[in-house]
Amino acid sequence: MRIIRFRDEAGRTRFGHDHQDGQALILEGDIRGGFSETSQRVGVTKIMAPVQPAVILGIGLNYHEHARETGLEVPKYPVLFMKNPASVVGPEEPVILPPSCLNPPQVDYEVELAVILKKTARNVPVESALDYVLGYSVGNDISARRWQGVKGSGQWCRGKSFDTFCPLGPVLVTPDEIPDPQALSLSCVLNGEVMQDGHTGDMIFSVAELIAFLSESTTLLPGTVILTGTPSGVGFKRTPPVYLQDGDQLELSVDKIGTLRNQVRAEKEE
Ligand code: ZN
Repeated sequence: MRIIRFRDEAGRTRFGHDHQDGQALILEGDIRGGFSETSQRVGVTKIMAPVQPAVILGIGLNYHEHARETGLEVPKYPVLFMKNPASVVGPEEPVILPPSCLNPPQVDYEVELAVILKKTARNVPVESALDYVLGYSVGNDISARRWQGVKGSGQWCRGKSFDTFCPLGPVLVTPDEIPDPQALSLSCVLNGEVMQDGHTGDMIFSVAELIAFLSESTTLLPGTVILTGTPSGVGFKRTPPVYLQDGDQLELSVDKIGTLRNQVRAEKEE
């Protein structure tokens, strides 16, 4: 099933599916309790990010090709960081470049397979890890590279947590339609030019391995979003480097899910 979270004509936030001609079938329920189908079709006025995450767990350097382009060693264990859940925006919403990230330019894109958990996970074995997945979506792990490096004092959270730095969507696709999350192509297109063109088969740690690792003696709540890392082609490793600018158009796609579109805007200093 392809699930959307949307605003209806009465201004309510709803879950739905079978989105066509500006309408969707309502799904009653929520992520924690599960969804039940209805036959009620309502108008969709705005598509939102598919979840408001409980937490966003990001994984760094999780593609062989990307680890190679950064010149860093292939990690022995997943490289974990967090993003502020309030940084999430939906499809077609602007990505805002904060004043502190404009000079020098430093804001980068990262297309990622986003994994959304449906039930509490703790000490989950690899073999049953995918049973905890509600669905998959497209994520953009927007990153301010100077804040991630020099100004981050050794951690990545600050540079990845500015408002609007986590576009997510446009839909959540349930695992029955994606039985193997390691068999998906993914790409990032910036102003019509392909910048990233990867495959989840290149992941160093699989989705199942990540869930097992992250849940070790650690409770992961329903609505946890795991950003599973980005393939090669990021802007800061290009020659010359490519950083996001006011007016840029981002189109991020993952096989079987769809395309997440956002425009970039520079915030004016007040
Ligand atoms: Zn990332």
